[in-house]
Amino acid sequence: MFYHETENLPRPDLERLQAERLRRTLEIAKRSPFYAGRLAEAKVRPEDIKTIDDIRRLPFTTKDDLRANYPDGMLARPIEDFVRLHVSSGTTGTPTAVYYTQRDLDSWASLVARCMHSTGMRRSDVFQNMSGYGLFTGGLGMHYGAERLGCLTIPAGAGNSKRQLKLLQDFKVTCVHIIPSYALHFAGFLDQEGVDRNSLSLRIALIGAEPHTEQARLRVEELLRVKAYNSYGLTEMNGPGVAFECVEQSGMHVWEDAFVAEIIDPATGEWVEPGETGELVMTNLDREGMPLIRYRTRDLTSFIPGQCACGRTHRRLERIAGRADDMLIVKGVNIYPMQIEQALLATPEVGQNYLIELYREGYIDQLRVKVEIKDEYFVEDMRALQGLQKKITARLRDEILITPRVELVQHDSIPKSQGKAQRVVDLREG
Ligand code: ADP
Ligand code: ZN
Repeated sequence: MFYHETENLPRPDLERLQAERLRRTLEIAKRSPFYAGRLAEAKVRPEDIKTIDDIRRLPFTTKDDLRANYPDGMLARPIEDFVRLHVSSGTTGTPTAVYYTQRDLDSWASLVARCMHSTGMRRSDVFQNMSGYGLFTGGLGMHYGAERLGCLTIPAGAGNSKRQLKLLQDFKVTCVHIIPSYALHFAGFLDQEGVDRNSLSLRIALIGAEPHTEQARLRVEELLRVKAYNSYGLTEMNGPGVAFECVEQSGMHVWEDAFVAEIIDPATGEWVEPGETGELVMTNLDREGMPLIRYRTRDLTSFIPGQCACGRTHRRLERIAGRADDMLIVKGVNIYPMQIEQALLATPEVGQNYLIELYREGYIDQLRVKVEIKDEYFVEDMRALQGLQKKITARLRDEILITPRVELVQHDSIPKSQGKAQRVVDLREG
């Protein structure tokens, strides 16, 4: 029933396995120039890890550490042992590089296959990977996972909706991997082309790689007529395959035989209370080339208490609220872009894309939200449009507590990037 023998391991056994693997990982990490210094400074030896809770004695690793040791200061093996590298998307600054040995790639593919299996994907499925290939881990990461599961795998890559549609039709594709912002855009394209959804064989969409709301998921499910599953990963922890929703769709199981997940208060570095939101901190337990210890992801989430109905014992993460870096402060109020998305996509007249702009009026920061409106509501009747604008403004104010300027724009008029959506543009100077 499960893909991997550890999926329903009783918690005490799983935690014992984690402690054992953490000791092994420390032995390996010590061989890298970076961790040799870090662990000596912290005066922690592998044998000091008695239970997994002892992980708190270890120092954090930050994105700045990775940047300072770029490109290869974190490697725990000679360079000739490595067979691939990926580079993060660089959404928040200089990208970081991660190197993999053949064994690391094997372990990664198995993790991704396990994730796919937990959504109900099987070897009889035909899988189209609609995310960018190249340095982005969502390409090859998902690709090898699907092959490992045994699916017929189509490396479509990103963009070119016309060709994507042809592939979906010609090869009777049943499952896709697609970035949520592109999924919404693609659904708009299908409408435009008048594609009868019953002519497609789609049943599952794996969506992730960027923050998105439950509203966005519901739209993807309705517009593509699929079940959509949230996929979380980051290059520093291989890429996709870190945490994934199962068929229950109630949070993402983080694979605790391969990772240690902790949630900390970003200010103090201490664990938050169970169920509280904080910064996710991740440790590799099954990587031999470049293991990272207590890596601060900057992603905000919480553990979902209790056990999942699917029977897996690995804990579940709440949908990622965004990155700590994503927070906007306007007029003294903290705002996350996902709060804005939630309000917009819950409004039926709103189309599939939006853009948040920060600008300055005199000395005061202001927020403008450009919102695409579905064609059928983009009418010439000024009064109707004004009414809609008022309604959206009020909904946003209820959600974010300040009044933004709302600009209604036509379907498809906001530029769509091929990779991760850029939701916020900062037009303030200085
Ligand atoms: P970058 O950090 O430069 O974007 P990556 O391609 O490695 O490079 O992206 C990993 C990041 O993408 C994560 O740290 C997280 O912020 C975001 N991310 C990935 N999957 C999800 C998801 N399912 N929900 C929200 N955010 C996600
Ligand atoms: Zn589950």
